[in-house]
Amino acid sequence: MTVDVKIWGIVQGVGFRPFVSRLAAVNGITGWVANEGGHVHIVATGTRDAIVRFLAGLAGENDGPAAVVHMETNYAVEPQTFDCFTIIESSKGKDDLVFLAPDLAICPECERELFTATDRRYLHPFISCMQCGPRYSILEQVPYDRDNTTMVDFKMCSFCAGQYGDFGDRRYHAETISCHDCGPQLLWTGLGGQTERFVALAAAVKALNTGKIVAVKGIGGYHLACTPFCTETVDNLRELKGREAKPFAVMFRNLAEVKKFCQVSVKAAQLLTAREKPIVLLPRKSSAIVASVYKLSRYLGAFLPYTPLHHLLLRETGPLIMTSANISDQPIIKDDAVMLGIKHHHLAGVLFNRRQIRIGIDDSVVRSTGSGEQVIRRARGYAPVPVYLGPVSDRPVMLLAAGGQLKNTFCLTKQNFAYLSQHIGELDNVEAIAVYQHNIERMTSLLRIQPEAVCCDLHPDYTTTKFALRYAQAKGVQLFRLQHHFAHIAAVLAEKQIFEPVIGVAFDGTGYGTDGKIWGGEFLLCTPQGFERGAHLQYVPMLGGDAAIKEAWKTACMYLDHAGLEAAIEEEKWPLLKAALLAGVNTISSSSMGRFFDAASAILGLQRVATYEGECAIQLENKAAEYGADRPRGKPYRYQLQAQDGKIIVDVGPCICDLVTAKTAMVPLPVIAYNFHYTVADLTANVCELLREKYRVNRVVLSGGVFQNAILFDLTVDMLQRRNFTVAFNSVVPPNDGGVSLGQAFAGTYLLRGEI
Ligand code: ZN
Ligand code: ZN
Ligand code: FE
Repeated sequence: MTVDVKIWGIVQGVGFRPFVSRLAAVNGITGWVANEGGHVHIVATGTRDAIVRFLAGLAGENDGPAAVVHMETNYAVEPQTFDCFTIIESSKGKDDLVFLAPDLAICPECERELFTATDRRYLHPFISCMQCGPRYSILEQVPYDRDNTTMVDFKMCSFCAGQYGDFGDRRYHAETISCHDCGPQLLWTGLGGQTERFVALAAAVKALNTGKIVAVKGIGGYHLACTPFCTETVDNLRELKGREAKPFAVMFRNLAEVKKFCQVSVKAAQLLTAREKPIVLLPRKSSAIVASVYKLSRYLGAFLPYTPLHHLLLRETGPLIMTSANISDQPIIKDDAVMLGIKHHHLAGVLFNRRQIRIGIDDSVVRSTGSGEQVIRRARGYAPVPVYLGPVSDRPVMLLAAGGQLKNTFCLTKQNFAYLSQHIGELDNVEAIAVYQHNIERMTSLLRIQPEAVCCDLHPDYTTTKFALRYAQAKGVQLFRLQHHFAHIAAVLAEKQIFEPVIGVAFDGTGYGTDGKIWGGEFLLCTPQGFERGAHLQYVPMLGGDAAIKEAWKTACMYLDHAGLEAAIEEEKWPLLKAALLAGVNTISSSSMGRFFDAASAILGLQRVATYEGECAIQLENKAAEYGADRPRGKPYRYQLQAQDGKIIVDVGPCICDLVTAKTAMVPLPVIAYNFHYTVADLTANVCELLREKYRVNRVVLSGGVFQNAILFDLTVDMLQRRNFTVAFNSVVPPNDGGVSLGQAFAGTYLLRGEI
């Protein structure tokens, strides 16, 4: 039989066609493969069994960096016979899709050459090939040719040029090809301000091995590197970065070394060694890594070397903290002048090179939960690989989704693909906003996208909303405003290509509701076209808007008061708060699940004030984790479900009362914390059952930042599945606000075609 296959994704310029012909040879397939426009086209003839194996091979893992985003197989073709399998001339094709490779981690063959003393590129810190090296971060314009990247500054020597032009060489048309003679040179600028070349690596190693902090230029920007074994050093790093309290990630030489410091499941090992080389959150073992690295987290963010330079460094230093070089949550530093301009007594030197980075890209963060893989931050290695949206569109639409305010990403669509930007971050400083706008311009131009509409949040104060309003006006295009939690759920619908109605459970910190109140504990009946609010946590008045969010003790007061437990409030400032509350000064109603977790954390005395978003809830989760898996199943605290205006209102006042009672009765905190999680999972399942009855919908979709809580996530998925729900959740984009732009884009494509 003969099949006709089309494959979209990162399949051009990454050695995909040779992979296809090897696969054909192994399976006894004849036919041909060609690049056509933005996709790869294959015609294959073979026995039915051979075709099945061949197709499975195409869709499965390949040994290179190629990423299949979408594959279409046509079985209804006339049988054809061929003598052999050939790679044929590329043609321009009709589609105008552009697929840009993400930055690729060093491949095994280059790694072997790097440490082969007889190899010309022995210890060359910038060794790369067709299968590996920087891509998206050095691209100036398409097509991806050396002259269109910042490698244009380095003229190939005759040796490299020879390999570049040799069809049989694995560096044939490898645009980032270089060697000691012609490539970027490793440079070191120490405290004295002098730039040195030949001792660069040795100087950096010496500094690191004596407990100093060094800036290291990587792929998407600079890292700050130092040993994770010395508290003083790590505290210095926190001072240098602006005293932030977030955990730092640690890079290890190899998987075996990670296993000495962390528990690594089979799935987690796959994530660590995956081609994207993300930071993987792993349960810590007790080790010589000092607490200042991970702070209060029960995880350690671990990752493996992904550039030749990382390998060269780590074999001399051992494990290193590698954290994005930025100051106080600003965008990652990518320019040499900026990095070299930072004079700080804790920064011993800068290890860098003159290859320019065009855009900043942070390391990605993922983890494996009991229920599946979760992306926490989608950046290097993933962006800008698009997400296939399914057969959404007869009329291809191009649009821009502006994303959220925190953990921002934006998203562009073209035909049936959604191109998510890398994680941009918090848009609360001018630097970040400039990076945001620059990336939008860059990506629309690289991908040849002229948005016909722009989507944004309902929140009037989001930077992204204001940007979208201006953009729509300036370009004369339509503007769509989408509710935040609907966008969270729509992101899962997009990922999983779900077009039927679902019960969307969005548990989140903050999102602007259609009634102008703060939402975040939402049960929404959703389709890609829109939603109906089926149930939500009861509104509790909150003080001070967004600024007070970090003060969990205030939230706790509000919950206690709301639950009729004013007498239990021991806060000195309570009378003041109460007065403001009664006067209605600066109060806003909130149904946020995130705030409910904050309140519980503060009531249990775990954490009163968050230094970063979600910290109080993380403390509560950590306590619950101490409960241990071998203990009996949890027991839910009380809550009430009430019908109101056709919606179900979840009153968690009784749960607050039970928390106070349990704490007063000296029930161990891990038990209370675990039962609290159990309660939320239990109420979720019960509300979903009621909504299933009402709407006759059996599929539940979970999203929102609160589901980064692994205990809650696993408990909820488990409980829903026990009650025969089909459960879907994010695995390609983050459940946090980093995924919102994908949801906006997906829903936006329907709005643009007037299907609402
Ligand atoms: Zn390579
Ligand atoms: Zn060379
Ligand atoms: Fe959100």
